[in-house]
Amino acid sequence: MTIQEKILLNQYTTFRIGGPARFFCVAQNEDDLIEAIGFSKKKKIPFFILGGGSNILVSDVGFPGIVIKMEMKGVTYAEDGNDVRVTAAAGENWDSLVQATVDRGLFGFENLSLIPGTVGAAPVQNIGAYGSEIKDVIESVYVLDVLKDEYKTLKNSDCKFAYRTSLFKEEPGRYVVLSTTCILKKKGGLNIGYKDVQEYFSFKKIKEPTLKQVRDAVVEIRTRKLPDIREYGTAGSFFKNVIVSQTKAQELIAKYPEMIVHAVNDKKVKIPLAWILDHACGFRGVKKGNVGTYKNQALVLINYGNATAQEITDLAQKMVDTVYEKTGIEIFPEVEYVQ
Ligand code: NAP
Repeated sequence: MTIQEKILLNQYTTFRIGGPARFFCVAQNEDDLIEAIGFSKKKKIPFFILGGGSNILVSDVGFPGIVIKMEMKGVTYAEDGNDVRVTAAAGENWDSLVQATVDRGLFGFENLSLIPGTVGAAPVQNIGAYGSEIKDVIESVYVLDVLKDEYKTLKNSDCKFAYRTSLFKEEPGRYVVLSTTCILKKKGGLNIGYKDVQEYFSFKKIKEPTLKQVRDAVVEIRTRKLPDIREYGTAGSFFKNVIVSQTKAQELIAKYPEMIVHAVNDKKVKIPLAWILDHACGFRGVKKGNVGTYKNQALVLINYGNATAQEITDLAQKMVDTVYEKTGIEIFPEVEYVQ
């Protein structure tokens, strides 16, 4: 494996932003990964695991350690009655895996269609969309525990999955995901309860959609709402959706009666941040200099030209401050800052 020096990271991030990595390598197998981590330990420099670069904002000065780009490949399918165990290596493209499973008629990933990034990143933030989360189908995650220098198979219950988070986010730098094993179903149910999905099928006059039609629906909805990463520099939704107390939700509903909220349980309520940013703060489709938000989705920050990480950070901070001023809600980035 070759370890290169001073490699510009903007070419590896969907934001198309980021200064140089002091060192950079591509890990195609476990030996490469061990070698790269050994190099970081020997040199006493940090390492950063790079997947699809679709959920990060790399600083303009770059990264002072070694960036390890995960390119381990391979997918296996093992049938067990109605279950099919799908094991995919960390470097596989997430949506190609979803497409392949839907083509095989397997239920479980369809609502997670078109989420950018790699398989290795999927359990880290417990990707979720339209009422499904990867934790619903994960059986285990095979990792390298960097602290203990050993490989481990973590069961679903070990991974501390919660809304867009996991053990891997709680202890950053400790685990490197090598592969995930999910259990998909040959005969399964579909989850089409979300408004956007319902509206899609009622417009198309489809009462009982097929698995493939649900994937097509999610792909079309996302394509309409989100920018094409081949056209725009972006990392998708920049902020996490917000969960607040019932009391806070009642206060907001009184102020914004048109806003649609969803109960998480009898104490907590999900607030649609995109709606707040758009209707309460006027942030949809704004553009100033090189940066702005997308015309169809205010949660999405865009690099409209040769934006710097600083310009994106400044806009994000302005959004954080405005949301707080208007609603008293604190919002947090979903995108990870790398510096
Ligand atoms: P949206 O569908 O307008 O939903 C906004 C908020 O309302 C979200 O918090 C969503 O919860 C909640 N919600 C909507 N319908 C619901 C229902 N029927 N039951 C329970 N909760 C409901 O959001 P959007 O911004 O256009 O995004 C579409 C989907 O993609 C959402 O599910 C969103 O979470 C997901 N997404 C995921 C990621 C990621 O994994 N990193 C990034 C961007 C968007 P949920 O968030 O629990 O769905």
